[in-house]
Amino acid sequence: MQNLLHNLNPEQLAAVTLPAQPALILAGAGSGKTRVLTTRIAWLIQTGQVSPAGILAVTFTNKAAKEMMTRLSAMMPINTRGMWIGTFHGLCNRLLRAHYRDAALPQAFQILDTQDQLSMIKRLLKANNIDDEKYPPRNLMYFINNAKENGLRAQDVEAFDDFNRRMVELYALYDEQCQREGVVDFAELLLRTYELLSRNQPLREHYQSRFRHILVDEFQDTNNLQYNWLKLMAGTQAAVFAVGDDDQSIYAFRGANVGNMSAFEREFKVENLIKLEQNYRSHGHILDTANMLIANNTKRLGKNLHTDAGHGELIRIYEATSDLQEAQWIIEEAKSLIAEGSTRNEIAILYRSNAQSRVIEHALFSAGIPYRVYGGQRFFERAEIKHAIAYLQLMDNPHNDSAFLRVVNFPTRGIGARSLEQLQDAARQYGISLYAAVPYVTGKAGTSLGAFVKLVESARFETAQLPLPEMVQIVLDASGLIAHYQNEKEGADRIENLEQLVSAASLFVSEEGFGHDAPAQLGPRSEQTAGPAIVTQDGVEILDADAPLVTVMSPLSAFLSHASLEAGDNQAQAGQDAMQLMTVHSAKGLEFDAVFITGLEEGLFPHENSQKEDGGVEEERRLMYVAITRARRRLYLSFSQTRMLHGQTRYNTKSRFFDEMPEESLKWLSPKVQQHHWFANPKAAWDEVPESGANRIAQSMGKKNIGWRIGESVAHAKFGEGVIVNIEGSGSNARAHINFGRHGMKLLDLSIAKLDKV
Ligand code: ATP
Ligand code: MG
Repeated sequence: MQNLLHNLNPEQLAAVTLPAQPALILAGAGSGKTRVLTTRIAWLIQTGQVSPAGILAVTFTNKAAKEMMTRLSAMMPINTRGMWIGTFHGLCNRLLRAHYRDAALPQAFQILDTQDQLSMIKRLLKANNIDDEKYPPRNLMYFINNAKENGLRAQDVEAFDDFNRRMVELYALYDEQCQREGVVDFAELLLRTYELLSRNQPLREHYQSRFRHILVDEFQDTNNLQYNWLKLMAGTQAAVFAVGDDDQSIYAFRGANVGNMSAFEREFKVENLIKLEQNYRSHGHILDTANMLIANNTKRLGKNLHTDAGHGELIRIYEATSDLQEAQWIIEEAKSLIAEGSTRNEIAILYRSNAQSRVIEHALFSAGIPYRVYGGQRFFERAEIKHAIAYLQLMDNPHNDSAFLRVVNFPTRGIGARSLEQLQDAARQYGISLYAAVPYVTGKAGTSLGAFVKLVESARFETAQLPLPEMVQIVLDASGLIAHYQNEKEGADRIENLEQLVSAASLFVSEEGFGHDAPAQLGPRSEQTAGPAIVTQDGVEILDADAPLVTVMSPLSAFLSHASLEAGDNQAQAGQDAMQLMTVHSAKGLEFDAVFITGLEEGLFPHENSQKEDGGVEEERRLMYVAITRARRRLYLSFSQTRMLHGQTRYNTKSRFFDEMPEESLKWLSPKVQQHHWFANPKAAWDEVPESGANRIAQSMGKKNIGWRIGESVAHAKFGEGVIVNIEGSGSNARAHINFGRHGMKLLDLSIAKLDKV
């Protein structure tokens, strides 16, 4: 025990050993919040105040949950497998599996990821003859998720006009369809659990008395439903221990509500508010930079951060002429870090938007440097993997229409649009799934659909007794997927990925404790052994305290939910020493010796979308604060004059964030005079703009366009004075790239924008 606590400072120690009462730990980045939370779990268990089963801990990502488990096992000899540590989604999945009947779900219910959800919505619109221009599928998806995140079912949403009324109707239809197919989306996992526990008193009381301690990391990013879920789980007895940092609230765009921190303080009557002010992660210059930047935000709860680590190195800033050159610079710097002895795992390259990674990846690849991308195209989201998973889903739950439609004719087996229409009509007529409707289709269509059903059935039958990895292997072959990609020109990569799915299944069964020879399809172990996993209380089936996943679902069901929930972890490469590439959002909570923050340009970071929204720039600044505070020793910032994004070349000015950092902590690697040269010398700008079609058009027009010339100074009501850097298009389609200095480069429609000559 001494061991457990002796590495803590007095405030951390106080936090770890607080009595069992509601507590809020409010502290800046790198101050040890996550460490305090983990240590508290260990301390509570070691001092005998609670058994591992009495702990409910919520983390922000699956990766974080895993890390917490690993740290706990290192601190003390306990089996963490039965512990309830996970994300909101993961924990809800677990609860719903245990109580699927009470939650009115089929035992093998499946989870829709965002991609599946969108395609389901598209199908729904089509089936109901709804104009998808008037009701864009994505908007409907946001509408539904938003309602769910506020705890509202379709019947609870008050429609204020016809359009809205239609949206609400579609929401109701969508929920019906999900129920028919036995699938739930991410928000549904939470809402369903919430409703289950609100409605079912014995169940609620069981969990409320079981979880004496509820601990939540990254509390600032909880949304309303998650907060209410926590309140429900806590009841009146549990000690909720929340840690968070209002300066790192970066998910407002997804409904996170930083106001939950003060709501928590008020509603739980928190008397234990602890602030941690010592930062253990970063050297002085890095911390000073983060502190000074975030001081520009107005809405803050207020706290300080200091370090004993000394100033360390200056922050290195590089201005590139193009994104390619930026990537090249990163590689040179990374190489010298590695030459100095840094491991690749300890170097992270962060970007604001996923689209930026392509150029960097290409440069790393050409330089032969191993790298790993988090969160981009995730393993479980790749098309070939989704196809394989769809076959497995159908074997587990044939009524999943999304899975059915994904593979009924993939690889092609002569089932055309017309056959599917017939099938969909039959399904609608009888109110059943597509799979169930197959016998109602006659003729040639019926024969080929019947053959598909037979394929799925025999795969299910033949693999019922086999372990999961073997089942996956057989399905890859029997489905025709492997053969299909063998015939495809660039199919080799895809086949490799499919083979990785077999390895992923292997790894999964051993990590979850299913045992390598457990049959993939047979139900939960508890049902086979009637062991102590299920106890009955007031006629309600209750999952016993330490029940791990193996006791509540089959390996196949468990693996499929893992595929939907853990899409982010690319485990196949986990062991390799590789540079880490990710968006700033996915870097939350992590730390690295060296961090590159790239693309620090107006319009990219801060992102242009943020400038339209209230408080948008403040959220971007918090995001920048998160990015900076990931670094331990070295921080590199870069921006580029030009960047190719989404097929267009953008001309950029450096991010406003540079003006908000302490000059004495910065080291400019490129001559500073370059920074505003377009603004100062428009002629030079013209000469340097890369040759593009638009340029040539402008040139051939004598650099003239409805009265405007490149290089001309203009004034705009909102952006002030600027210089036209380029003109593209002509007549009423003419648009100009105008450098407005402080406001950055804007692309304005010349027939609309109100510009004056200066
Ligand atoms: P973030 O806000 O980024 O999530 P955090 O507040 O959760 O950060 P941790 O990740 O828990 O911070 O801790 C940051 C680093 O400081 C970790 O490497 C941790 O091990 C280390 N650390 C925390 N407290 C101490 C301490 N008392 N002594 C030494 N190192 C510490
Ligand atoms: Mg943390």
